[in-house]
Amino acid sequence: MVINEIFYSLQGEGFLAGVPSVFVRVAGCPLRCRWCDTKYAWAEEAGRPYSTTEIVEQVQKWPCRFVVVTGGEPMINSDLPQLVRELKAAGKHITIETAGIAYIPDVPCDLMSISPKLSNSVPEDVKLAAAHEDSRLDVAVLGELIDNYNYQLKFVVDSEPDLPEIEQTISRLGNVDSQKVMLMPQAATRDELLAKSPMVADLCKRTGFTFCQRLHVLLWNNQRGA
Ligand code: SF4
Repeated sequence: MVINEIFYSLQGEGFLAGVPSVFVRVAGCPLRCRWCDTKYAWAEEAGRPYSTTEIVEQVQKWPCRFVVVTGGEPMINSDLPQLVRELKAAGKHITIETAGIAYIPDVPCDLMSISPKLSNSVPEDVKLAAAHEDSRLDVAVLGELIDNYNYQLKFVVDSEPDLPEIEQTISRLGNVDSQKVMLMPQAATRDELLAKSPMVADLCKRTGFTFCQRLHVLLWNNQRGA
C-alpha cells in the first residue's frame, strides 16, 4: 500500500487524546474537504509503496502499543484488513480514522474513529464540490460502521449554525450512543483553535456531547509529523 508517512506523536483528537501513538498515514482520499489539514496525502500516489510487513517493522521502531491508521482515507484501501491483522498480531491497539464513506467488515480494530463530513467541508472549486457532495455522507455506511465497531463520532464544527446539521445527521443514523459523540473545532492553527474553542465548548454544554481537543494543533500548531 502507498504510505504517506509513519511517525510517532501524541494522539491529538478523540477519547484517546494525549496517548503516545504511532501514526500510519495511508495515501489517497477522494473527498477534498475545504479545510483538510492533510492535503499532501490526497493523491493515491502521495507516498511510497510499502508491504504490510514493512509497515509493521517501521511501527515497531517505537516502544508504543497504540497505532493510529489514518489518511487520506484508509477505509478505501483494499490492503487495510491485512495491515490491521498484522498490527494486531504484533500486539498493537489500533484506531482507524475515517470519514465513514466506505465499509469493510471484520477489520480487527479497537476503535473506529468516524468523522462524518458536514456541508462546512464542501470544497470551493465547483467540480470538486459536486464530487464531494455525492460521497461525503453515506448514512447506510455510517450505520454499518456504528453497528459493527467500537466507535467514536467526531463532528468538525466551523460555526454555531453547524449544530442543527449535526443533530439531523445523528437522528438520521438513529442508533447513535450520544456518549460517543464529540464536537471538534475546525482549526488549522493554534490561534484559530483558541478562537473557536469557547463556541464549541458552549455547544457541548448545551447538548451533552463531549468537547474534542486538537492537541497537535495546540502543542505544535499543526506542524507536519510533530
Ligand atoms: S476526509 Fe479527511 S483526509 Fe479526506 S479530504 Fe476530508 S479531512 Fe482530508
